[in-house]
Order: sequence, then structure tokens, then C-alpha cells
Amino acid sequence: MVDSEPGNLASDWYLLSGAGKSHTALSDASHSGKATWQCSKCRAPRPGTGPIDIEVRHPPEDSPLSFISGSMLGLISADLVSKLGGAAKWLHVGSVRLEGHGDLPTWRTVHGQYDLVVRGNRSVGHWVCDECGRNVYFALGSRYLYPAPDPAIEIYDGRMGRLVVTGAIVDNLDASRWPELDVRRIRVATKPRDGLTVPIGATRR
Ligand SMILES: [Zn+2]
Repeated sequence: MVDSEPGNLASDWYLLSGAGKSHTALSDASHSGKATWQCSKCRAPRPGTGPIDIEVRHPPEDSPLSFISGSMLGLISADLVSKLGGAAKWLHVGSVRLEGHGDLPTWRTVHGQYDLVVRGNRSVGHWVCDECGRNVYFALGSRYLYPAPDPAIEIYDGRMGRLVVTGAIVDNLDASRWPELDVRRIRVATKPRDGLTVPIGATRR
């Protein structure tokens, strides 16, 4: 599904996510090793963690962005990483093995160098993880960004296999060629609509 407009500006932002519903889980071996990279409180990759190599029980089936269930770690198809080209430098991209089969070259793990909270306006929950310092945030309703992200950073991690990218990235992707990639414009609000007064900006991980 593509909701993009021609002639994107550098200040336009899009949310990329998998249009499919499938996700996958860590193998038992990888599950027991996740303490090396995962925050035990909020389940996101710890700050300073580089590329994460994992083993999964089965590959996700139906979209180029997915995630590991029970984790904030995303999965991205190797094709999509290639299409991002040099902009993939904003991501930590690790390897994926398939349980009982070895390397799974069509998939990579993905988490961003920078986190960005995609905000909403209903049923809002927010706290700062007391173990890793991450903004943990949940909300329903219409999605928006606030404050405006720094466009010098072209890709942010929206968690669980969601990426927030500039309009220039979407133009380069030729998103209509990715029918299983959900591409939605996300606007920058002039003020928060979730009732929160604490600053929730992008954070380097
Ligand atoms: Zn945490």
C-alpha cells in the first residue's frame, strides 16, 4: 500500500512498515542469548548495541519489514536493504540464520542508530525505561511526529520493524514496486496531541 506524493521535500516524512501480518520468533538458542543485546525491561536493543545476529524459527512470509515477536527488534529483507543504498548507514543490519538450516541470506535484523517515537492522540502511555533510558510509548489514534525530526538523519527506528524515513528515501525506493510495503505519509504536528508535556525527541541508541 502506498500513500506517497510525487515531488517529496526533504522535510516530508513517511512511515514504512510491513503490510503483511506475519512475524517470527527467536529459536531456543537465540532466545537464551538475547540477554547480550536486549534490555530486560523494555525489550529493545540496548544503547550502543551494533548489528545483532540471530537465529529464527521460521522466516516471516509476506512483507519486507517484520519483527521478532516478544522483542522490539525488526527484520528487513535483504532486497530492501540493497534498495536503501547508502542510507542504510543509519541502520544496524545483522545476519539471520534459520533454525536447522544455517544462514538465511534473504533476511537481516534491523534497528536504527536513532529512535523516534511515532505519537498518537488516544490511550496514551509513556515512561522512560529505568534500565536503558528509552522512551517507551504507546498510543492509538492518528499518528504524527513531534517535534520535527532532524532531516540530516534520513532513517529513524520506529520500533518493531517500522522505519521513519525522509521523502527523498521514499522517492528513491519507488515504493509502488513494493506492494507488501506499507508507505504512509506522517505529518509533523505543531504541538503534541497526546497530552504529554515532557520532551520526547529522537534519541541516539
Ligand atoms: Zn529499556
